[in-house]
Amino acid sequence: MQSRWNDEDAKRHVEAARQAGQSDALGLRIYTSRIIGGDPDLVLHGGGNTSVKVVTEDGSTRMHIKGSGWDLDTIEAPGLPAVRLMPLLDVRDGPKLSDPDMVALLRRNLVERDAPNPSVEALLHAFLPFTFVDHTHATAILALADQPDMRETVKRIYGSRLAYIPYVMPGFDLSIEGDRIYRDNPGCEGLWLENHGLFTFANNARISYELMIEFVTMAEEELARTGVTLKGPQSNDVTEDKVIRRRLEAVLSGRGSPFEKAIFLDYRSTSAIRDYAGNDHLDEIARRGTVTPDHVIRIKPWPMIIEADADEAAIEEALNAYADRYRLYFERNAARQSEPKQMLDVYPRVIVIRHKGMYALGATEKAARIGGDLCEQATRAINAAEVYGRFTPIGEADLFDMEYWSLEQAKLKVAAG
Ligand SMILES: [Zn+2]
Repeated sequence: MQSRWNDEDAKRHVEAARQAGQSDALGLRIYTSRIIGGDPDLVLHGGGNTSVKVVTEDGSTRMHIKGSGWDLDTIEAPGLPAVRLMPLLDVRDGPKLSDPDMVALLRRNLVERDAPNPSVEALLHAFLPFTFVDHTHATAILALADQPDMRETVKRIYGSRLAYIPYVMPGFDLSIEGDRIYRDNPGCEGLWLENHGLFTFANNARISYELMIEFVTMAEEELARTGVTLKGPQSNDVTEDKVIRRRLEAVLSGRGSPFEKAIFLDYRSTSAIRDYAGNDHLDEIARRGTVTPDHVIRIKPWPMIIEADADEAAIEEALNAYADRYRLYFERNAARQSEPKQMLDVYPRVIVIRHKGMYALGATEKAARIGGDLCEQATRAINAAEVYGRFTPIGEADLFDMEYWSLEQAKLKVAAG
C-alpha cells in the first residue's frame, strides 16, 4: 500500500484551517482523514475513525473526533466535533458506563451543543496519549485478524511495535481494554484489534498516517509470503443476468418486505466475488460472520444464497429459510440480554448467486451501493483469509451484540435521516 501523503496538499489543508480560524493540527487531521478515507482498502463508508488533540488558548485540551454520520473521505471540520478531554479521562478508572451514560458523557463535553455524536470509539482515542490517533478496517489486516489465534504471528510480524487486543465489543469495553493493554506495552506504535482492525498513533499527523500504511503493507507482505494477493478493489467485469434480477424484484416487492415501497438491488460480479460465490464451501463460509463487527448493521450476519437458475418459487423458499434462521438467531441471543430487544426485519441484505455474483439490497440506492462496496471488500478479505488459513470472524453472540447494539442502530438512523 502506498502512502498518499503530499506536502503541497498538506500545506493547503493547513492554510484552509488557518483561514477558518482553526488550528494547524485540525487542518492536518482533515487532510490525513481524507487520504485514509480515499482508499477503500483502508476504510469504507463511515468505517474507521480519526482524532486529534489540541491545546486551546486557556491551556485546556480538546479532542476533535470523527462524528457519527460522516465519512472520512469527505470529512470537514464539523465532522470532527471537539470534546473537552479531561472529563473523559476521569472515567478511565471508574465503574463501567452503560451505553446511554457514555453517550451522555460525550455529548455533555461537546464544545458545540449541536455537533454530531462523537464516534463510539471516542474514549479509546481520548485515553491514548498521542496528538493523532487513526483507526481503520484495512482489507489486508482483516484477512489476518480474522484467523483463529494470531497473537504469535502478530508478534513475529510486528515485534513489539503493535500490542495485541483480543476481541472485545467496541465502545466502552474496547476503550478500557485497549487502554490497559496499551499501558502494558510501552513504546508500541499501534494496536492490533483481533477480528476488527488496527489503530496507529503519533504526535505528528504524517507519522501516525504513515504508520498505518506501513503496518498494512507488512500485512500485505505476510499474505504475499504465503501466496495470497488481495487483487483489488475490483469493478464489475461481467454483465448482469437481468432474468434473476426481475425474479428477485418480483418476489421481494410482493412480500410486504421492508422494501415494500421500493427496492434497490446493487449487482456485483468481480473475480473475487465469483471466487467466493463459487467456493465449494460457500454455504458454510458465508454463515461464519462479517469481516469486521460494524458491517453487520448494514449487511446482516450472513447473506442468502440462491442458485443461478433459481425461479420465483426457489427464491420464495430461500427467503423463508433465511427468515426462519434469522428468527432463531434472534430468539437464541435475545434470551441472554439484560434488556428486551425488538427484532429487526427478517430479510437478507445480500443475496449471493452461486458461481455468478451477488446483490446488495437496500431501501435506497445509496444503501444498496454501500452494501455492494462492503461485499466487494469483504469477499477479497474472506478469500485471502481462507487461502492463508481459516476465515474466523467474531461468532454469533458477538455479531448479535453488535447488530442489536443501540449505538449502532443509532448510526443507521443518522444515515437515513
Ligand atoms: Zn472499528
